[in-house]
Amino acid sequence: MHYKLLNAQRKIYLTEAPGTLGGYRPNRIYGRLDCPSALRHLASGQYAKHRVFFADEATAIAAGFRPCGVCMKARHELWTADPGAWLAAVLSDHRA
Ligand SMILES: [Zn+2]
Repeated sequence: MHYKLLNAQRKIYLTEAPGTLGGYRPNRIYGRLDCPSALRHLASGQYAKHRVFFADEATAIAAGFRPCGVCMKARHELWTADPGAWLAAVLSDHRA
C-alpha cells in the first residue's frame, strides 16, 4: 500500500507511511484527518478530488497551507491575529 502525500513544493509523492494531516488544495487549508468540516465536505462529494495529505505540519506550512478554522481553532486564531507569531508558535512546537 502506498499513500500519496504532498511535499513542501506542493508535488505529490508516494510513501509507505500515511499522512498525519489532511488538506484542501484550492484554499490551501490543512487540518486533522478527522476534521468535522472536511468530513462534511467529503460527504458532499465535491471535496475528494481536491483532498491532499501531508506527512506533518511543518510540511503543510512549507507548502503554503494555513490551519483550518474548525479543527485547529487555536492555531487558526493565532494565524488570523498575527501570521508571524503563528509561525513562531508552530515552529517552537516542533522543536519541543
Ligand atoms: Zn478542519
